[in-house]
Amino acid sequence: MRPRLENKTALITGAASGIGSAIARLFAREGAVLALLDVDAAAADALACELAGTGHHAVAVQADVSKADDVQRAVAHAKQALGRIDILVNGAGINVFRDPLSLSDADWQLNLGVNLQGAWHCAHAVLPSMLEAGYGHIVNIASVHGHKIIPGCFPYPVAKHGLIGLTRALGLEYAARGIRVNSISPGLILTPAAERYFQSCPDPDAERRRQAELLPCKRIGTPDEVAYAALFLASDEARFINATDLLIDGGRSQLYHD
Ligand code: NAD
Repeated sequence: MRPRLENKTALITGAASGIGSAIARLFAREGAVLALLDVDAAAADALACELAGTGHHAVAVQADVSKADDVQRAVAHAKQALGRIDILVNGAGINVFRDPLSLSDADWQLNLGVNLQGAWHCAHAVLPSMLEAGYGHIVNIASVHGHKIIPGCFPYPVAKHGLIGLTRALGLEYAARGIRVNSISPGLILTPAAERYFQSCPDPDAERRRQAELLPCKRIGTPDEVAYAALFLASDEARFINATDLLIDGGRSQLYHD
């Protein structure tokens, strides 16, 4: 069987860790040439080297997605290295969980800047050349927090609801010009970010067991399970799928109560 992303180029943000790095590894195995964008330059470089070691082509580009100028510069570098960008995956994100009334303005901005505006900055930077080519697929990594509210996680869900809105709005805006924009909403996925959350709990193992027990499938998701959905949505196999969101949460968000 031919690789599913043969002759495709992809820019993946948040590529240095967790879900982003699982997507990068899978896209590389499926034949895509990659630009790995991350604020953590050393980790993105390490992944590019790892991929080069297995015969794949990937360049690391450093940028903070919350900064428009940074993104423009990094995307220009990525385009120069790859020739063009067919696929954008917006994976960069951070957990900002605060008490609403003691939330600082800086943290409100940080949350929206990285988790919502970051995806817009990257889409804004790649869309002109995608429109010129009449071809492009964007996949935003949203969250179950973009659908449902878990108390104690404010203001992260505000940004993730916005990211699903951005997906729908941009998807329709350019649908007639060869561009598709979709999002994926993972539930709890075992990544370094999730691990940091467990470690912040008084009893990390108890919290891990509690979280798994909450899920109908009684286990936490893996980054690869999200990567396979991103692969499908980013490929031509999904060419009639646009402006929609795919929940990957083991069914949890459909549960009313046990
Ligand atoms: P992670 O912390 O393992 O990886 C996130 C990556 O994004 C890191 O490499 C980090 O350096 C990069 N990053 C952070 N801020 C950045 C910035 N300003 N500019 C550029 N890069 C930046 O996290 P993860 O769990 O793999 O999360 C990836 C995405 O999936 C995020 O958008 C997150 O909100 C979303 N998500 C995660 C889960 C989960 O349970 N892990 C669930 C739902 C959604």
